[in-house]
Amino acid sequence: MRRIVLMAGLIGTLVACGGSAGNVKPMHAAETASSAPLPVSLKEPDPDVRRGLRPEYTRTNCAVLKCVALTFDDGPAKETELLLRILARYGVKATFFVVGRMVEENPDILRRELMEGHEIGNHSWSHTSLAALSPDGVRAELGRTQAAIKTHTGRDTTLMRPPYGATNERVAAVARELGLAEIMWAVDPLDWKDRDSVQVRRRVLEQTGPGDIVLLHDIHLSSIEAVPEILAGLAERGYRFVTVSELLAGTPVESGRQYRERSTT
Ligand SMILES: [Zn+2]
Repeated sequence: MRRIVLMAGLIGTLVACGGSAGNVKPMHAAETASSAPLPVSLKEPDPDVRRGLRPEYTRTNCAVLKCVALTFDDGPAKETELLLRILARYGVKATFFVVGRMVEENPDILRRELMEGHEIGNHSWSHTSLAALSPDGVRAELGRTQAAIKTHTGRDTTLMRPPYGATNERVAAVARELGLAEIMWAVDPLDWKDRDSVQVRRRVLEQTGPGDIVLLHDIHLSSIEAVPEILAGLAERGYRFVTVSELLAGTPVESGRQYRERSTT
C-alpha cells in the first residue's frame, strides 16, 4: 500500500514537473494544465524513475540529463506577461531575477511567475551596482527586495544576481549573511544591447552547452520574441529546461559563492 502511495506521489510530481522535459511541442491554448497531454518523453520509461524513489530523483536529474537554465532579469514588467504565456504554452520553467522596485509596481506578475512554477531570485532593489556600495548599502538593496518578495509571495529566495554582474568580497559577504547564492551566467547574448531577436536567438543557440545558465531580460520584447525558437532549437538538441535550483540540485550550493553553470566536477 505504501509503495502505491509513493508511486502515485511520484507520478504526480513528474506530471507537475512536465515542463522540465526536453519535449517542447506547444500545447493548444485552450488546453488547461490538467487536460494537457504529457510531454512525449514522460510517456517513455524515465531513467530517473528506474533509479528508484529517492526524492532527488523525482525532479529532472541534471547529473545525467542535458539541462539548461534560462534566466530573465530586471522585471517583473508588463512584457513579462507575454513571456509567461510563451513558457506556459511550451511547458517550460525558468528563473526570474526580479528588481525590488519593479516588484512593487507589478506584484501580481511576480505571484504569477511563482504560481506557474518558475523560480524567483533577488536582483537588488534599484538595479544599482552593488560593488560600489558599502556593506550596509548592499544589505539595504538585497534585504529590501528579499522583504518585498516575501510580502507578495510568502516565500524567501535563496538566489541573487548582482546587477551588471558587479560583485566583490563585500557583496559576497552580505549575500552569505542573507543566505543567498550568487547566480551569474555562462551565456550572455547581449540582448540588452542588441534588441534583435534573430541575433539573440543565434547567440544563445551557438553558445549554450550542457549545464549552462543563460542570461536574458524579460523587459525587452526582442528577447521575448527570441524565446520560442530558442526553446525549439535547444530541445531539438536534447536539452531539458530547468530552474536554477533544479540545475544545481545535487551539487554543493553555498550562499555567498558564485555559480555560472552546473559544475561537472
Ligand atoms: Zn539586470
